[in-house]
Amino acid sequence: MAVVSIVPDEKPRQALRLRRFVLASLAALSVIVFMTLLYTGGYLRPEGLVWSISGILACIVVFFAILRSGLNLRLKDPSMTGIQMVSAMTVVTSTAFFINSEARDTVAPILLMIFYFGIYRMDTRAMTRLALVNIALYGVLIAALYVYQPHTTDFKLEFLRWGVLALVSLWFGTIGGHVTQLRRELALRRASIEALLERDDLTGVGNRRFLTHMLEQEKSRANRSGTVFCVAMLDLDYFKKVNDTYGHAAGDEILKVFAQVAQQDLRKIDYFGRYGGEEFMLIMSDTRLEGAQATAERLRANVESARYKDVDPQLVQTVSIGIAEFQAGETIEHVQLRADKAMYKAKARGRNRVEIESSDVRSAAAGDSPRVA
Ligand code: GH3
Ligand code: MG
Ligand code: MG
Repeated sequence: MAVVSIVPDEKPRQALRLRRFVLASLAALSVIVFMTLLYTGGYLRPEGLVWSISGILACIVVFFAILRSGLNLRLKDPSMTGIQMVSAMTVVTSTAFFINSEARDTVAPILLMIFYFGIYRMDTRAMTRLALVNIALYGVLIAALYVYQPHTTDFKLEFLRWGVLALVSLWFGTIGGHVTQLRRELALRRASIEALLERDDLTGVGNRRFLTHMLEQEKSRANRSGTVFCVAMLDLDYFKKVNDTYGHAAGDEILKVFAQVAQQDLRKIDYFGRYGGEEFMLIMSDTRLEGAQATAERLRANVESARYKDVDPQLVQTVSIGIAEFQAGETIEHVQLRADKAMYKAKARGRNRVEIESSDVRSAAAGDSPRVA
């Protein structure tokens, strides 16, 4: 039997929104408990209890339906944070109309609790706007009390409460906006640190960590949607001799130029990086062996015709390349191993050439490493 879950797991962002909504709904239900206590204590009139319970339940049902059906995705802010906060503030402030004058300030902390939810995404301007809505709603409450309950209302006290609520809402809004700002900066810094962690210092291209990351990503995509990708291992030819002849600094310079030249004709969906030492890797998304071979051949020719003015204008640096096409179910270590094997074949066949791994990989993959279901 199919079970309808509260939180769908197929869309992570939408699932996060629903989890936050469940949290907000629990807070709203605790407000119902509090209103019931006010009512049993004789501080809230029965129509006020009915009003608050129906208001809160209506909000929960309506927002849940919108979120669960995905209608929210058509809105400018799919999290609907602002509209949910305004609805909650309206229900709570209007309930205050039915609370006896001496107990009315119990709603202020609830209004601030509602504010807390803005910290997830509102900036200072949005939080200030919400604070102003909060203040305006309380103003409407005072006006309603003036019209309908002038004799049982202490207006001096109400204006004092209004003033304190305004002050605290505005301050809370400012602080909340600041927290949002900090969260955004933190996310940006984390992203730039992660980017740094995946860069190679010398050449500026992706490093081994980056390549492993991309291989994992391509593997998941291939296993999930049946796409193909190829892995090429590149190893500079006789690089030890270059180092011995021109020195280590010159070797570094050649590695830098090589990385630039190798990248020049690549597509956006190809991932190039330094695997270590004078070995590089190229991951070609959505590419079969034939296409990968053509790309690698172009790369090889570009490298061969590159010149190194700062080292020796006569120097010709070549590269040997081995390619393997990923086979569904094999591990990334295995496809790498096969690309390496092809690269050694290129070395053995005279270097400065491209070779492909063409053994019966399907049975080899099944035998050498566990298949992924
Ligand atoms: P083959 O054609 O068989 O690949 O010969 P090779 O000389 O390139 O192979 P080998 O693996 O023996 O030598 C690799 C050399 O690459 C040794 C090492 O000094 C040099 N190397 C590795 N990393 C760096 C680096 O970051 N900078 C410099 N300058 N040299 C490096
Ligand atoms: Mg090597
Ligand atoms: Mg080498």
